[in-house]
Amino acid sequence: KRDQTVNLGAGPSALPTDVLLEAAQGILDFGGTGMGLIELSHRSGTFKKVIEKAESDLRSLLDIPDDYCVLFQQGGGTEQFSATALNLLAYHAIANPDYVSKHKGSTPPCDYVVTGSWTAKAIKEAKRLGINARLAVDARQHNDGKFGVIPPVSQWTLSDAKADKSAMLYYCDNETVDGVEFPSPGFPIQDLPEEYRKNVPIVADCSSNILSRPIDVRAHSIIFFGAQKNVGPSGVTIVIARRSLFDVDPDQGVPNGGPRIPCTLAYKNAIDNGSLYNTPPMFSIYTSGLVFADLLNNKGGVNGATQRAKAKSEAVYKVIDESDGIFKPTVKQASARSRMNVTFRICQAGQDQPDSSLEDEFVKRCSAKGIEQVKGHRSVGGIRTSLYNAVSVEQTQLLVSVMQEFAQQIR
Ligand code: PMP
Repeated sequence: KRDQTVNLGAGPSALPTDVLLEAAQGILDFGGTGMGLIELSHRSGTFKKVIEKAESDLRSLLDIPDDYCVLFQQGGGTEQFSATALNLLAYHAIANPDYVSKHKGSTPPCDYVVTGSWTAKAIKEAKRLGINARLAVDARQHNDGKFGVIPPVSQWTLSDAKADKSAMLYYCDNETVDGVEFPSPGFPIQDLPEEYRKNVPIVADCSSNILSRPIDVRAHSIIFFGAQKNVGPSGVTIVIARRSLFDVDPDQGVPNGGPRIPCTLAYKNAIDNGSLYNTPPMFSIYTSGLVFADLLNNKGGVNGATQRAKAKSEAVYKVIDESDGIFKPTVKQASARSRMNVTFRICQAGQDQPDSSLEDEFVKRCSAKGIEQVKGHRSVGGIRTSLYNAVSVEQTQLLVSVMQEFAQQIR
């Protein structure tokens, strides 16, 4: 049935069939050892080769410079909400002791660009930990209380890069729930004030669009992504980080007597131990490595993925735009529409308000054609079709034809 199914889930989501076949073999008998990969010691030479190959293929795919480390962490994207801030604050405390001594009782500020549900969660977590988290912008305030636009940098409120130096600027490149993505080529780093750009570490959550277009690694201090969309099975979260910022003893950098970083979150521990500080999620790392090799060797690398992502998303948005208002995009600003998660509502002809019974009918109609997991996130409703790397252009064509037929019947 698999070859008749189009899985448009938002994550965990479709993975390439050839990769899963190889992974299935590898967990039964890895390379003729008589043992499955996940039955071996994580400290064995065999697994070491697996993790090193995954890292080196990822380095090739994303052109990661040598002074950046690649860390395989656990805890999901959610754990990075705290890990990013805590690791950078520890560094900041060492690098800027003056700030720490002058601002007793408060951490250096961390600036957040909130463009959707995941950045809203990230700043909430930072505040919960007592971090001086500041809102650089909340896109809802620019769009009637809803996500769906990305205000220009000129409308953001950034911390003063000198006097009140921020420990980080945090953003999410693609907001999975809301279908909001920074327009290609990506986050507008060039629009930040020069002083700020030079001094403030930039942190990107790329959980749902990594490997779908190139990213300027050097312009960032941390790029992280959970695996379960474009990369592999859930379990591993990959962190690409500027080594010099984190090759410091985190216990030396505890600002104002604050809490220490939990050992599994401290990047230094992962750096020193080749991501084997404790037992890593072996299956997820192994399978992600197979996805990297497949993309690199068989699918034209990130450039191939970029072209396919453009073709797929343009085809679906075209149907939306030509549906006479039957499909209503939830993202108001056309340039911020996600290439990965296409979100829309369905309305009766001539109506402005979405009709949830029509949406239920659409989900059923998709399912009858083998198209699965298209229901929108429970917090926003509607429809979400996710066009991650493992979804082919042909599969997207099937979605397009189902949508066209559906709109035709309603008109
Ligand atoms: N960031 C983004 C952009 C996400 O899409 C998700 C989850 N889908 C997360 C963070 C949280 O990831 P996790 O569930 O792995 O903690």
